[in-house]
Amino acid sequence: MPIPDSMESRLAAIRTRMAAACARAGRASAEVALLPVSKTFGVEAVRQAMALGLRRFGENKTQEIRQKAAQFEADGPQWVMIGHLQTNKARDAARLAAEVQSLDRLDLARELDLRLQKEGRALDVLVQVKTSPEPSKFGLDPAALPAFLRELAAFHSLRPRGLMTLAVQSDDPQAVRECFCCLRMWRGRLREDGFLGLERLSMGMSGDFELAIEEGSTEVRIGSAIFGARSYPARLPGGA
Ligand SMILES: *Cc1c(COP(=O)(O)O)cnc(C)c1O
Repeated sequence: MPIPDSMESRLAAIRTRMAAACARAGRASAEVALLPVSKTFGVEAVRQAMALGLRRFGENKTQEIRQKAAQFEADGPQWVMIGHLQTNKARDAARLAAEVQSLDRLDLARELDLRLQKEGRALDVLVQVKTSPEPSKFGLDPAALPAFLRELAAFHSLRPRGLMTLAVQSDDPQAVRECFCCLRMWRGRLREDGFLGLERLSMGMSGDFELAIEEGSTEVRIGSAIFGARSYPARLPGGA
């Protein structure tokens, strides 16, 4: 039996709730991946999570990835960039990230592609979409997605694999659900337009992942429910 309120017990509880949400939605558990979000937590927490079988970790600052990555050998974690990425940090992302989920504009795509070419590697990317009316959220306006994806095709080092969003912060589950529903709808529309590489929907966090799974999420990004409370709010403007 895991110790109560250990990382192991919190992780087990999340997996149980994920499985239950899948069952409610008539989905197989294997359809939904878990991306633990380790931002603000130290390498000890990451090591502990690795001992529990986790390998990919979401982070929102390239600087933090750099600091953490330096403390692991080559078989260390895979770092997934989920926070707002400044264009002048594209080089760090191209070197350090296994994946970027917060691609939301062409100048960033262009710079990432250039830096990736220099590194001689390609990168899976998700396009971050603004599905909520909140003014502070990053992400592409959904209506701009078709044109954006057409332009992305020119950047051969970027492999668009799906869409990512943050739902509105609201006590109204229906409002949250609509954000997730919007993302799934756009994936369907884009696939009909021929963007068949778009399979993944990264949506759902500690506070709303069950709704996200019910609405078709293929990966939930969970921080505080696994690692504990952070000492700053989860959603600083800028994903800082
Ligand atoms: C911090 C963060 C998460 C995880 O948030 P929790 O509420 O701690 O689960 C997920 N996605 C993004 C983009 C984040 O910045």
